[in-house]
Amino acid sequence: MGDTKKVKYAGRFGPRYGKAIRESIVEVESKQRKKHTCPKCESESVKRISTGIFFCKKCNAKFAGGAYTPNTMSGTIVKKMVRTKTFLPMLKELMEQTEKKLEPRENKEKQGSQKMEDKNQFDEG
Ligand SMILES: [Zn+2]
Repeated sequence: MGDTKKVKYAGRFGPRYGKAIRESIVEVESKQRKKHTCPKCESESVKRISTGIFFCKKCNAKFAGGAYTPNTMSGTIVKKMVRTKTFLPMLKELMEQTEKKLEPRENKEKQGSQKMEDKNQFDEG
């Protein structure tokens, strides 16, 4: 019930909230609901348990990710930066990406948690 052909899950809202918002809900939720691959065991049994927290049913791994999906575009770039320890050229790329596509909520949360990780890495090394 509520699902329609044209607006999919957003059919549950009926005519409320406007077309653009209902469209972006469908975009985010379809990504959120589809099965995600576990970074540890690579099986498709990852579930989102809360904002930015994901859990693999198979190997019991709990890990942080984007607000709605385990991997976001900006998160992938930051991970690459941490791995290769080349920050400046990649940072440029990240700035360009975030300027292009402003998704404030997801990006902010992602960058906040990633920055903490960066600091930890430096302290250890
Ligand atoms: Zn797993």
